[in-house]
Amino acid sequence: MTQVKATNIHYHEGNITRDERWKALGVKGATMWFTGLSACGKSTIACALEQALVNQKVPCYRLDGDNIRFGLNKNLGFSAADREENIRRIGEVSKLFADAGILTLSSFISPYTKDRDAARAMHKDAGIDFIEVFVDTPIEVCEKRDPKGLYKKARAGEIKGFTGIDDPYEAPTNAELIIKTAEHDLEACVKQCLDCLAKRGLISLA
Ligand code: ADP
Repeated sequence: MTQVKATNIHYHEGNITRDERWKALGVKGATMWFTGLSACGKSTIACALEQALVNQKVPCYRLDGDNIRFGLNKNLGFSAADREENIRRIGEVSKLFADAGILTLSSFISPYTKDRDAARAMHKDAGIDFIEVFVDTPIEVCEKRDPKGLYKKARAGEIKGFTGIDDPYEAPTNAELIIKTAEHDLEACVKQCLDCLAKRGLISLA
């Protein structure tokens, strides 16, 4: 549980509402949250989706696990407490980006249900759409792909607490979208995301 340390703080409202901002800018913010095992395809899909959206001039931005650990979360490791704080911060950052009117594509293993649910809850409280995308790729397939050689290292005991090997992955039970990359190619997976966004009125299909 995150300790609140600051006292005597007051929320300062702006002069315009979110709706006014979105209408004036012609945008709609939301968070699409990709979760799944390492190498399941989160980043690959988010990158291709980002490209497709930018081509349609939809303001969007990708927040990616490793990238965020180079900066904002460089002081966090992979213990359960650090993973929780990692996801809490990303949840908050995603919410801010979405509030600004950006379609935010957040791809993080985010293995624990309670941390994903906390990210979902902070969006719900703020009235911002949160679309959980479970990139559901069997671990055998992820391990065979192993683009970064991480499964090999984890099996050799060189990485401790690796999700799916010696740390749990709690599969979502209420995801808005389930993508099976072992059965569909990248293009089809991106199409599934675009269809989902269109169905929710967040984009119009090109
Ligand atoms: P993650 O971000 O989940 O760790 P990556 O996107 O880095 O995973 O790696 C996924 C690997 O799976 C890449 O090498 C990618 O080319 C491959 N892959 C094969 N089929 C698909 C697919 N349908 N969708 C996404 N990635 C796929």
